[in-house]
Amino acid sequence: MIILNDVSKAYSEAGQQRWVLRNVNAHFLPGECTVLLGRSGSGKSTLLNLVSAIDSPTSGMIYVDGTNLTTMSEHERTLFRRRKIGFIFQFFNLVPTLSVFENLLLPLELNGIADANGRRHALDLLEQVGLADRRDTAPDRLSGGEQQRVAIARALVHNPVLLLADEPTGNLDIDTGRQVLDLLDTLTKQTGKNLFMVTHSPEVVGLADRVLRIVDGKLQEQRSVVSSQ
Ligand code: ADP
Ligand code: MG
Repeated sequence: MIILNDVSKAYSEAGQQRWVLRNVNAHFLPGECTVLLGRSGSGKSTLLNLVSAIDSPTSGMIYVDGTNLTTMSEHERTLFRRRKIGFIFQFFNLVPTLSVFENLLLPLELNGIADANGRRHALDLLEQVGLADRRDTAPDRLSGGEQQRVAIARALVHNPVLLLADEPTGNLDIDTGRQVLDLLDTLTKQTGKNLFMVTHSPEVVGLADRVLRIVDGKLQEQRSVVSSQ
C-alpha cells in the first residue's frame, strides 16, 4: 500500500523555487498496476524518485508498506530502497562486467540473502523470463528485449513490495516492448506486487488497473478499474 498525503515538490533554481508537484493525494492498493502518463518534464520521474525514497518531498507525507518515508534518515532510506523496491529502467542498466546470473544475484548480495535458497530463486526467475540458458553470458551479448527481461528478473529477485519502471519499453520496438510488458504484468500480478510504470506507449494503458496523468503538478485519475477506497 502506497499513500501520498499532500505531497509537493519544488526544485530550487537560480535562487527561485520551481514547483513540479503540488499537493498530490493518492493511494494505491497492493497488487495494483498503475500507469503514469504526462508530458516530458511534467514530474513523472520526480514522483518515482519520491516513492522510492531517492528524493524527499518539499512538503507532505509518503507511506510505503506502512513506513513513513518522510521521517527516515538517509541510511534508513537506503535500506528501504534496497529491500523494498525493484527498479526497471529504459536503458536496462545491467552491470556490463558481470554475467546475466551475477547481475541477478546483486540485489540478493546487497541484502545479504545470496545463499543457496536465494540462488535457486534467482535461477527460477531466470527460467520464468526464458533466459536460464544465457545465465553465463555477458549482458551486451543479449538483445534489448532480452536485457530488459533480465532487468525484470533482477527487479523482482529480492521480493520487493514495489516495482518502479521508468519508460521500460522506451528503447524497444513495439513487438518486443509488448512481450516485455506482458511478462512484467504476469510476474507482478503473480506475486501481488505494486507496479508503478511511466510510459508513453498507449498499449500499456490496457494492462493498467489505474491510469494517472500529471498535469500542472497535479495527479489526475484517467480511469479506475480497481476501487481506490
Ligand atoms: P518527467 O520524468 O515527467 O519528464 P521530471 O520529473 O524528470 O519529468 O522533471 C520535472 C521537472 O523538474 C523538469 O522541469 C525538470 O527539469 C525538473 N527537475 C527534475 N530533476 C531536477 C533536479 N534535480 N533539479 C532541478 N530541476 C529538476
Ligand atoms: Mg522522466
